[in-house]
Amino acid sequence: MARHCGAMATRIQARLNTVCSSHWLQDWHLSLGLSGARLTHAGAAERLQREYDAVVIGAGHNGLVAAAYLQQAGVRTAVLEKRHVLGGAAVTEEIVPGFKFSRASYLLSLLRPQIYAELELQRHGLRVLPRDPYSFTPLLEDSSPPRSLLLGHNMAQNQQQIAQFSQKDAQAYPEYEAFMGGMVSALDPLLDSPPVDTAALGKGSLLQQLRNLRALWPLLQAAGHQQPALVQQCSSHTTSPPPGLALGQQLPRYYEVLTAPISKILDQWFESEPLKATLATDAVIGAMTSPHTPGSGYVLLHHVMGELEGRRGAWGYVAGGMGALSQAIANAATARGAHIFAEKTVCHVLLGRDGRAQGVALQDGTEVRSKLVLSNASPQITFLELIPQKQLPKDFVQRIRQVDTRSPVTKINVAVDRLPSFLAAPNARDGQPLPHHQCSIHLNCENTHLLHQAFTEATHGHPSNRPMIELCIPSALDPGLAPQGCHVVSLFTQYTPSVLADGQSWDEQARNAYADRVFDCIEDYAPGFKASVIGRDILTPPDLERIFGLPGGNIFHGGMSLDQLYFARPAPSYSGYRSPIPGLYLCGSGAHPGGGVMGAAGRNAAQVALKDFRSF
Ligand SMILES: Cc1cc2nc3c(=O)[nH]c(=O)nc-3n(C[C@H](O)[C@H](O)[C@H](O)COP(=O)(O)OP(=O)(O)OC[C@H]3O[C@@H](n4cnc5c(N)ncnc54)[C@H](O)[C@@H]3O)c2cc1C
Repeated sequence: MARHCGAMATRIQARLNTVCSSHWLQDWHLSLGLSGARLTHAGAAERLQREYDAVVIGAGHNGLVAAAYLQQAGVRTAVLEKRHVLGGAAVTEEIVPGFKFSRASYLLSLLRPQIYAELELQRHGLRVLPRDPYSFTPLLEDSSPPRSLLLGHNMAQNQQQIAQFSQKDAQAYPEYEAFMGGMVSALDPLLDSPPVDTAALGKGSLLQQLRNLRALWPLLQAAGHQQPALVQQCSSHTTSPPPGLALGQQLPRYYEVLTAPISKILDQWFESEPLKATLATDAVIGAMTSPHTPGSGYVLLHHVMGELEGRRGAWGYVAGGMGALSQAIANAATARGAHIFAEKTVCHVLLGRDGRAQGVALQDGTEVRSKLVLSNASPQITFLELIPQKQLPKDFVQRIRQVDTRSPVTKINVAVDRLPSFLAAPNARDGQPLPHHQCSIHLNCENTHLLHQAFTEATHGHPSNRPMIELCIPSALDPGLAPQGCHVVSLFTQYTPSVLADGQSWDEQARNAYADRVFDCIEDYAPGFKASVIGRDILTPPDLERIFGLPGGNIFHGGMSLDQLYFARPAPSYSGYRSPIPGLYLCGSGAHPGGGVMGAAGRNAAQVALKDFRSF
C-alpha cells in the first residue's frame, strides 16, 4: 500500500512542480463538485431571473440555510455566491490532485439539531463520522515512550488516562464535565432566536408589548434552568447546595466562567498541565487570546456547545469533507425551489428612494430585484463595501469599523503519503490508522504557559516559535479523501498575527518559513512527518481574507469576545438580524450567535425576514 501511494506521490509531485512552481498552491486548485455558474436540483437548468422575493448574498452554509427556510415558506429565493464553489468556509477542495481537503473548517458539532431534522439533511446526502476517542495530546518527554493523554466518550477510560498525571484530576473530571454541560444546557435556548430587542420593550400597544416580552423567554430559560442531576453531581465541589437547586442559583459560578480567564477556572478544578492545556485549547481556538485572557471561558463554551448524534460536545468529520455538508444544505434549498448560483459577485445593494433595499447589482452589471436582501457576507463587507456609507447612521458605521477582527489562525492543508507515527503512540506495522489518528491531535500543548508564550509572541507581531497546533487526519475515518494509503492532514495553527512586525509582509518567504516551523514541531513528535509531505496549502490570515472574505482572516467574521456577542453582535441595537437599511438583513456569523458551522444565524435571520415579508 505504501508503494502504491509512493508512486502516486511521485506523479503528483511532478504535476505540482509544473503547475505551481512559483506560488505554492495558493491560487490553483480543483474545486469539488460544485463549480460552475449555477447549482440546480435534479439537473434542471435554472437561469438567474431579474426578480425574486429574496436574494441572499453569499453561499456560506448560513446563507444556504437561510435560503432553504425562506424558500420552504414560499418566498422565491436566489443565492448569489462570489466563489466558484459553494459553502464559504465550509468547503471541500481538491487542492492537491487526488486529495480532498476541508480547506477551512474541518469538524462538525455546532450545527443546530433542528436544522438536521427540518432540512432533512441526511436525506439530502449528509453523512457524519463521529469520533471516539476525540482528543490526543502527545508529550515531548525523555521517557520511552513519552506519555500522552487520550480522551473519548468513555469516562472510566478518560479517568485512567488523566490518572497518569494526577489522581485528583481524574476524580474531578466527571464533575467538571457535568458542570460545563449544565452551563451549555442553560445557554442553549439563546442560540435559536434573535437576542432581546431592548429598544422594542415597553413600546407600542399592550399586545405588541406582550409580544416583545416573549423575546425574553429564552433569556429567562437560561437564567432559571433547572437541572437537579447536575446539582447533585456538582455537590461535592460546591458548598453543599441543597438538592433540587436551580441552575439559576449557580449563576455566580457561571458568571465567573463567562468572564474569567479560562486558566483561572481550570486551576480551580485541576492541577495537571497536559489536561489543563488540552482543555484550554477550546478556549483560545480561533481567538487572539491567551488562556490568561479574561473572557476566554466563553470561547470554550462555544466550542463544547454542539452535539453530534445526540451526544453533547461531540465533534465529527463530514464524509466527503465539510463541502458535503454545504452541498446537503444546498440540495435541501434547491429541492424546495431555491436558485443557487456560483461565480456571481454582488458589488452593491440596490436602494430605493425610500432607502429600502430593493435587490442587488452584480459585478457584471446585472441587477436582480427583490423585496428582501439577506447578506451572508461579513458585517464589514456588507456595510462598508456593499452600501454607500452616507446611507447608514454614522455611529453604526463606526461600530462596524470597530469590530475586533484580529485573528491568530493559519490553516495548513497537507497531503502526505503515510500516516504520522507519533513517538508516544507508534504506528502498527501495517500502517493502518490507530484510534488516536481520528482525534484532534494537540501539539505544543504540554502546558498553558506554552500557549500563553505562543500568544505573547504574536502580540509583538511575530508568528509563534512553538505554535499551538491542532492536527487532524480526516482520512483516517474517511479513506476516500485521499489516494489509497495516502492521507489528508489538517493543521489548524496559531498564533500568527495578520500584520507582521517591522513592516514585513506575509510574502511567500514568510509563509513558507512559518509552515516549515510548524513542520519542524510536528517532526519532534512524529519523526518522518516531513518526509511524508507531498503538497501543502498555506492559509495565513491575509489568505483567509482574500480567498474566503473573512475580515482580517477572522474565522468567526469577528471575535467572539463578550463585548461582541448577543446584544452587541454585530453592533448594539442591531443584534436582531435587521440592519439600519429596511429590507436588508445579516444572516452570517457576524450576527448572533456567531461563528462556527452552526447554521443558527441563517435560520434565525430567515425567521425575522419572513416575519417582515409577511407584513409588507
Ligand atoms: C481555517 C478555519 C477553520 C475552521 N474550523 C472550524 C471547524 O472545524 N468547525 C466549525 O464549526 N467552524 C470552523 N470554522 C468557522 C466556520 O467555518 C465559520 O464560522 C463559518 O463557516 C462561517 O459561515 P458563514 O456562512 O456565516 O460565512 P462564510 O462561510 O464566510 O460565507 C460567506 C460567503 O459569502 C460570500 N461572499 C462574500 N462577499 C460576497 C459578495 N460580494 N458577493 C457574493 N458572495 C460573497 C463568500 O465568498 C462566502 O462564500 C473555521 C473557519 C476557518 C476559516
